[in-house]
Amino acid sequence: MAYIVECLLELSDDDYEYRSGGGVTTTVTFSNRINQIATNAAQQGLIPVHLHSHPAGIEHFSGYDDHHEELLHQWLQSQGQPLLISLVQAVGSEPRARLWLLGHAQAILVRNGLQVFSPTEQSADLPALARQKVFGKSLRLAASQLQIAIIGVGGIGMLVAEQLARAGFTRFVLVDHDKVEPSNLNRLPNLSQRDLGRLKVKAAKSLIQKASRAIGTNAQVHALPYDIYTAPKQVKKIVSQCDVILALTDNELSRISCLDIALDAGAEFLMAGVDIRLNEDGQIVGLFAEVSGAEEGRYCPLCTGRLDSGQASLDARQYVGGEVWDKAQTDGYIKGIPDPSVMSLNSIAAGALVLEIQRRVAGLGVRDLWQMNYQESELVVYDNIERNVDDCMVCR
Ligand SMILES: [Zn+2]
Ligand SMILES: [Zn+2]
Repeated sequence: MAYIVECLLELSDDDYEYRSGGGVTTTVTFSNRINQIATNAAQQGLIPVHLHSHPAGIEHFSGYDDHHEELLHQWLQSQGQPLLISLVQAVGSEPRARLWLLGHAQAILVRNGLQVFSPTEQSADLPALARQKVFGKSLRLAASQLQIAIIGVGGIGMLVAEQLARAGFTRFVLVDHDKVEPSNLNRLPNLSQRDLGRLKVKAAKSLIQKASRAIGTNAQVHALPYDIYTAPKQVKKIVSQCDVILALTDNELSRISCLDIALDAGAEFLMAGVDIRLNEDGQIVGLFAEVSGAEEGRYCPLCTGRLDSGQASLDARQYVGGEVWDKAQTDGYIKGIPDPSVMSLNSIAAGALVLEIQRRVAGLGVRDLWQMNYQESELVVYDNIERNVDDCMVCR
């Protein structure tokens, strides 16, 4: 479950009764106003965050903080506000946060994008991960703390699962309703004839667990055999509680469903895909691999045309069938033959996606779109893209 900071209240000079290096006292009027806002927030599903700084070196909550926050939490409870989040940051240190619930405070994770601060538990130093230490301790932290939803564990998803597990990530939710078919065996890692007919989420779960055991971690994997678009509410809820949602399916409708869930829940969204483009004679003219993100208020793959809502509504037809679906099929809008797909190109997309996660975790920046056409040796990279749609159905 992620909480996003939605609204910040700033004090004006008139709101202080007293200010010094040792502390501040606000006016009664201001205190009443802020208490009222904190209370009313409960009805809108918002939670008040009490935020303050400490001098350098005093990283933890003080006994004074404990006492006052407990009183504040008690008062808020009496006003119908059951939760309180409190965050402290010492000068020059990383922030720490805790959630007050039913009279107790428990440490919670603070992250900015995929950069994780303040562990809720210590993670061990593993010999198997020695060679990735250059990505900083934040990779180790993120790997042990972040929950990753992989929607679609086919040719790209399964490679991503394996790479993340070997990078030390341990908390996974896998969603896919497909089973392993003979035509998948050219690109699904480590699968054999014995896996035919097996649910892909089960195969991916085994893959993750094997990788996890190999490096000395203990992976927790939820394998959910559903189509994300038609999945029951509980499944979407489990996905929405993840920190990262990776849309790795082969249709636009399910990717847009993932984007919708991610933007709603404050989860990080990333998708990856490949395209083997053919000319009319069926000859290969383009070999594309792409990774795209989504940043609330900054970059939206739907607004910028990386996701196609027209194709999505066509995808939606298959669930209802009928005349439009039949016509779309006969007109060739729905391909009878599955797209060509090879492990080599999938590996490039999967590797670029996992590398983007590692970059973000290590604080090396955020890239909204990375696209490569191997055939033409073209590389397109954007850090920020202007939106060209006014009325988006997901980013609002
Ligand atoms: Zn304090
Ligand atoms: Zn949008």
